[in-house]
Amino acid sequence: MTEPSSVIQQPIIGYHRDEEGHWVAQLACGHNQHVRHDPPLVRREWVTTSAGRESMLGFHLGCKKCTEGAPADDRPYFASLLSKMPAGTFAEMTAEEWRIINDPMLRGDSAAFIERLADLGKPGVQPMLEILRHSVQTIPEWHKRRQVVLAVCRGLARLGPDAGEALPLVQSHFEQKRCPITNSANDALAWRIAMARMGLPIEKLPHPSSWKEPAIAKMKSRVSRRVAKYDPDAGL
Ligand SMILES: [Zn+2]
Repeated sequence: MTEPSSVIQQPIIGYHRDEEGHWVAQLACGHNQHVRHDPPLVRREWVTTSAGRESMLGFHLGCKKCTEGAPADDRPYFASLLSKMPAGTFAEMTAEEWRIINDPMLRGDSAAFIERLADLGKPGVQPMLEILRHSVQTIPEWHKRRQVVLAVCRGLARLGPDAGEALPLVQSHFEQKRCPITNSANDALAWRIAMARMGLPIEKLPHPSSWKEPAIAKMKSRVSRRVAKYDPDAGL
């Protein structure tokens, strides 16, 4: 047994869940470590709430993998997404993109990569929807989910009518009471532009049932104007 004091200490920089839903801390060294709350063996009340997890960011854990000189762990979140992509999805990826996908340190650039799926045309739609579904299910904190969700939004807008098959899923997420894909009026505007680009008639754009006619008319004309001058490289 190694004495705890000889184990290299590393700060927590983030979290994800494993396939069974257990919390895993991501350490600055690139190693992952389970931080299960498993009474009576380990009591880690903090891991059970998002406030608790936030409060432990920067806290040092002993990293046996560092002590053993193990290579960095893959971030299972991206690994699991990539494993679900249909065969051929990356047939035309550039060397640069493969480098980003394969290098855990570069995956912070994943939002650009997700949007880039639009360049595949229709075959890019299902992978983007899978990413959207997966992020809604597995990233509880909006500030972390946001960049993934909005990258999908921009990617679908870029595809326009070719992404029409995505409309039912997008609409059902958008119209949920506690909407998992928006957190501000700007997010909602971006999604409405994307839905209009995908082929949803302006007349049918969703809005809260409490909205009065002037607000609805204003929203529709705003979306129409933005769709008319849509520029894929200017974002949403
Ligand atoms: Zn480590």
